[in-house]
Amino acid sequence: MYREPYHFNLERYIDPERFARIREFALTQDTPVLIVDLEVIKAKFLELQASIPHLQIYYAVKANSLNEVISLLHGLGSNFDVASPHELKQLQRLGIAPERMSFGNTIKKAQDIRYFYEQGVRLFVTDSEYDLQNIAHNAPGSKVYFRLLTEGTGADWPLSRKFGAHPDVIYNLILQASELNLDPWGVSFHVGSQQRDIGQWDDAISRCKYLFDAVLEEGIELKMINLGGGYPANYVDPAFSINEYSAEILRFLSEDFGEHIPALVMEPGRSLVADAGVIVSEVVNIASKAKNNLYKWVYLDVGKFGGLIETIDESIKYPIYFEREGMADEIILAGPTCDSMDILYEYNKYLMPDTAKPGDRVFIFTTGAYTQSYSSVNFNGFPPLKAVILPPH
Ligand SMILES: *Cc1c(COP(=O)(O)O)cnc(C)c1O
Repeated sequence: MYREPYHFNLERYIDPERFARIREFALTQDTPVLIVDLEVIKAKFLELQASIPHLQIYYAVKANSLNEVISLLHGLGSNFDVASPHELKQLQRLGIAPERMSFGNTIKKAQDIRYFYEQGVRLFVTDSEYDLQNIAHNAPGSKVYFRLLTEGTGADWPLSRKFGAHPDVIYNLILQASELNLDPWGVSFHVGSQQRDIGQWDDAISRCKYLFDAVLEEGIELKMINLGGGYPANYVDPAFSINEYSAEILRFLSEDFGEHIPALVMEPGRSLVADAGVIVSEVVNIASKAKNNLYKWVYLDVGKFGGLIETIDESIKYPIYFEREGMADEIILAGPTCDSMDILYEYNKYLMPDTAKPGDRVFIFTTGAYTQSYSSVNFNGFPPLKAVILPPH
């Protein structure tokens, strides 16, 4: 078997100076630990904000709900897309006003709608009739926006089928909202998370245009398009930049709406926080299952239940860096728990230097989104993934 020296293109994923600081700080930490660099989140937020004029950003809190992350984005002028009363309470504790929140979950109890309303939230998403009636009864007069169904094609982590409705359903909901004395503000969609095909926004925006025109004939003027999430992070497969996404989307908008582009909202999660996180892990064991097995099994102290659930079906491919030099072995990577689904990568072959040993530290990049917030509470007694903020320099 021909083998090459192990090489990991560190600069593609992280600024080397920043990595040096993270590496040094990590020496003070037990593993596994997620280290979050707020400076990266700030830069991403400013880049996104500058890429579309007058864009109103509603950060999707679920992507990373650390207090420090929320407070940073609050200070930068972000609004927040909130999914549950628990998230609402957290934001209130951090001093965030209800005017800066939307209840962006299409699946919500009537009592929770009422709670949001009592706390001062006046912006709600909907995609169904019961939900719309619940909003009308429990949050009278509120602004509503309507979520369109998308396919999720082209996304590494699709959010299709479960959310949104076909334009013919949405059309009727919009007319109904108006009769129920709600304020129909606009239309939203989510083309799927880590969406690699920018053209998906083209289709969705065309459907928005169709709806805007259709309800205008009934005297209802919609004023807003919520472009959802879906902007990319820097995983193993390369993606276009935030600016490239925005430039294309602005072009789609002017093709459909000409000079009369509606107010634009976005609910980014992944693209703001993923690149800011590095999980520092430890190799627990390296094993060969049989004398002539081609691939070694490498067990880390973090796995699917410790925050890497987006490796399901190997959907999200995190860059993983071993620090030693040696010849590259193709490996199968797995987590530490007693569940055989806790395998990270088997079909995508990751590389490890053949000099790696149990006890070595391993760096998993682009892990600032959907890791800690997804980690299990107590499986096999392992606590949820610990997260710490990189001290500023
Ligand atoms: C999760 C979610 C987002 C964030 O999506 P990303 O792809 O992480 O940017 C935005 N809006 C809604 C409604 C969501 O559920």
